[in-house]
Amino acid sequence: MTAFSLEPEQLARCADLRALAADRLRPLAEKGEPGRVNRPLVTELGRLGLLRRLFTSGALDLCLMRESLAYACTEAETALALQGLGAHPVHAHGSEAQRARWLPRVSDGDAVAAFALSEPGAGSDAAALELRAEPDGTGRWRLTGEKCWISNAPEADLYTVFARTTPDAGARGVTAFLLPADRPGLTGTPLDMLSPHPIGTLALDAVPVTADDVLGTPDRGFRVAMGTLNLFRPSVGAFAVGMAQAALDATLTHTARREAFGGKLRDLQTVAHQVAEMALRTEAARLMVYAAATAYDSGAPDVPGRAAMAKLLATETAQYVVDTAVQLHGARALRRGHLLEHLYREVRAPRIYEGASEVQRAVIAKELYARTVEQESSS
Ligand SMILES: Cc1cc2nc3c(=O)[nH]c(=O)nc-3n(C[C@H](O)[C@H](O)[C@H](O)COP(=O)(O)OP(=O)(O)OC[C@H]3O[C@@H](n4cnc5c(N)ncnc54)[C@H](O)[C@@H]3O)c2cc1C
Repeated sequence: MTAFSLEPEQLARCADLRALAADRLRPLAEKGEPGRVNRPLVTELGRLGLLRRLFTSGALDLCLMRESLAYACTEAETALALQGLGAHPVHAHGSEAQRARWLPRVSDGDAVAAFALSEPGAGSDAAALELRAEPDGTGRWRLTGEKCWISNAPEADLYTVFARTTPDAGARGVTAFLLPADRPGLTGTPLDMLSPHPIGTLALDAVPVTADDVLGTPDRGFRVAMGTLNLFRPSVGAFAVGMAQAALDATLTHTARREAFGGKLRDLQTVAHQVAEMALRTEAARLMVYAAATAYDSGAPDVPGRAAMAKLLATETAQYVVDTAVQLHGARALRRGHLLEHLYREVRAPRIYEGASEVQRAVIAKELYARTVEQESSS
């Protein structure tokens, strides 16, 4: 396979997933309570074998799953993605015991996972995080502080929590811990957000952790966080592409049917050109997402820059496409419950989380300059 075309089996699998999302997952999503973890939906994702794939296949497969699910059921897409985001550090850096205890349950949809990096004072500047891991003198730590904007909090069953083990050491003094939700001293509060998925804060008051709870190596947790984001950023782009495609298809149908000025909307050249622009940008974003995911799967050296480009282009594109789709549908798109009203709320947050668009530009520029320095020193 090249970065520019999918195999027929991959295309068929995407079509199957879109149908599954519409027929089996959408009805479960509709029964969910806004802002709450939808456990029957997560269980069904497990039963269908989709969650297991998060840990058995690569970045491209993750992107294809996210794009296909997003097309027909964004709630299912996000539930799947959050299981991956929260548990990927366990999969990639956990001990045998941690993996054996948690990964089967996450794969079955029996345990809900979350990734807790952001804090009230450390969002884009994640290396400034302050949640303290203080040694208690017996080889253990006590975690004290706050996490904010954590998807699936406070209802998740396990959290990957990033804490400061070495003060004033920036990114080098952060450790990743696997924290089961039933640890004493861990509480949380749901937040009511524009974004439809469950999200909340966590408060940690001297929560006990031991060396058995560390993911990877003490003080190397920032690498765990960045490695996870390098995998998930292109897939946030895939989520955005799925939403953009859904908005585009709805617009094609609507503008081909809607009567205005003695013809159909699509007969107006400005309308046809807007639809063409939506398709052009969606396809460009899709290709960049596939290329970034393929680069990740092949262990290419320029993954952070490609992942950042894919996320940036796709999320900004989806915002444009969904907004244009709303415009071309007129008032009906803004009616609560309309697909585009839903997508309009969904499409905004991905430009902020897992690194805001401005942060992606900073990542891209950093990699470009590092390459320039490398080339200069080798010439
Ligand atoms: C729906 C949703 C779900 C989330 N889920 C999670 C989760 O599961 N786990 C988790 O840990 N976090 C999560 N987050 C938090 C998210 O990662 C942060 O919101 C994000 O990192 C930005 O941090 P901030 O909101 O504090 O914004 P700030 O860091 O305060 O930045 C505000 C704005 O300043 C600008 N800016 C910032 N840095 C730069 C820069 N270097 N150059 C130029 N401009 C810049 C950007 O416009 C940015 O949007 C979630 C957020 C949302 C909205």
